[in-house]
Amino acid sequence: MKYLSTRAASNDKSDRKRFCEILLEGLAPDGGLYLPESYPQVNAATLTQWRGLSYADLAFKVLSLYIDDIPAADLKAICRKTYTEEVFGTPEIVPLKKLVSVHPELVEGGVQTSTSSVRTEEGSVRTESAIYLEALSNGPTLAFKDMAMQLLGNLFEYELTRRGEELNILGATSGDTGSAAEYAMRGKQGVRVFMTSPYGRMSPFQQAQMFSQQDANIHNLAVKGVFDDCQDIVKAVSNDLAFKRQYKIGTVNSINWARLMAQVVYYFSGYFQATKSNSEKVSFSVPSGNFGNVCAGHVARMMGLPIDHLVVATNENDVLDEFFRTGIYRVRGSADTHETSSPSMDISKASNFERFVFDLLGRDGGKTRSLFNDQLNKTGQFDLSADPAFVQAAQRYGFQSGKSTHADRLATIRDAHQRFGVIIDTHTADGLKVAREHLSPGVPMIVLETALPIKFAETIVEALDCEPDRPAKFIGIEALPKRVLVIDADVALVKAYITQHCA
Ligand SMILES: *Cc1c(COP(=O)(O)O)cnc(C)c1O
Repeated sequence: MKYLSTRAASNDKSDRKRFCEILLEGLAPDGGLYLPESYPQVNAATLTQWRGLSYADLAFKVLSLYIDDIPAADLKAICRKTYTEEVFGTPEIVPLKKLVSVHPELVEGGVQTSTSSVRTEEGSVRTESAIYLEALSNGPTLAFKDMAMQLLGNLFEYELTRRGEELNILGATSGDTGSAAEYAMRGKQGVRVFMTSPYGRMSPFQQAQMFSQQDANIHNLAVKGVFDDCQDIVKAVSNDLAFKRQYKIGTVNSINWARLMAQVVYYFSGYFQATKSNSEKVSFSVPSGNFGNVCAGHVARMMGLPIDHLVVATNENDVLDEFFRTGIYRVRGSADTHETSSPSMDISKASNFERFVFDLLGRDGGKTRSLFNDQLNKTGQFDLSADPAFVQAAQRYGFQSGKSTHADRLATIRDAHQRFGVIIDTHTADGLKVAREHLSPGVPMIVLETALPIKFAETIVEALDCEPDRPAKFIGIEALPKRVLVIDADVALVKAYITQHCA
């Protein structure tokens, strides 16, 4: 399997790369994102074979279709080392939980069915399709980013050891990405992590998670500023090509193809858990920010997984919902980006979206380049509403969308608690709220649970007036000694710190 850039000229095959070449790279040199030359197809016989596999072996099967420059035995060992009950808390790794009413008497006729029901305004009860939560957040940092980042840590260590090289990961985080990266890279050979975060702005739990790490290869830099200041520092350092080369600076942001590929696996696993035969379809509802998670769903669907709809759920930062409703992609300025109670979806533009647009435009790299490089840079938006391709986003690619607000989030968290006896986090609540607007009879809806409620306890307390459960390994983490350097928002200081710690 070779990889091409979303901005590549279609007749130019000279730039195509293999998996391990793009593993440690961010953007392609032309500014595009890497995608496989084609999506490997999975037929019914293969699906049947895969149904019974453990998560680690399923991951190996999926990854094998995309990676041909790591020997199979090594890749299998990497998958088995990554997806263990010890790291992810359950033998299923991503168990599915059906939402079942804890008040069966509320269901019409008093009959408890496996479906959820919605009381309409007229007071009648409408029976809808089964809704499931797929638990993606039982990994080390309690958010779904562990699913891909844990694999990335092991792939990086493998490839760096093979090459005899080192990598210094420089990142900016407002919470989930940074801690997932640090937990994945801690103690790994050949890798150091320098993670900037806005000083005093993350939740106390998130700060404790990151700053309590004692591994020598992990460096926390709390920048006196906001998240954008952190991101600007990372950009400035990466744009200094001489520094970048000398200090082998890399990133682990969500545009990395390996992260997206790892996420494809749990769409297969969710499908197998919700169905008995390959003739059934399911839909997924995905709390979305940078479009990485749902783009993995798009890839799974393109491979032939029987997915009916992919529901993109946004919060008040509704760049993506606006596109799927109107065909207009309009990025926001930082002043127009809302700070919400589902903060991991607070984005001004969706950095993975270019991958889907490339497919939508029939894989026309020239057209993709002109939209993202020329139009978006000049005017901050592009408009596909009159393009025949736009209709296909829903019809051919199965996309639907919706948005959720703080009030919706609170109402959904309360309702899920009362009706189903579950406490869900704020991002998952956005997913469930929008999922309910897109149910089709007979098609199970799988809502991806992207974080555990304890990470966003303040809003849970606001909704339910009680503290969410805390997994045992996180009890008392706020009191642990912290390893963090508070630093001014100054590129030169960050560079000096890196120089000093790479010696
Ligand atoms: C990162 C994140 C998201 C958004 O995922 P994307 O891949 O950026 O769309 C949603 N929920 C949580 C909890 C996250 O950490």
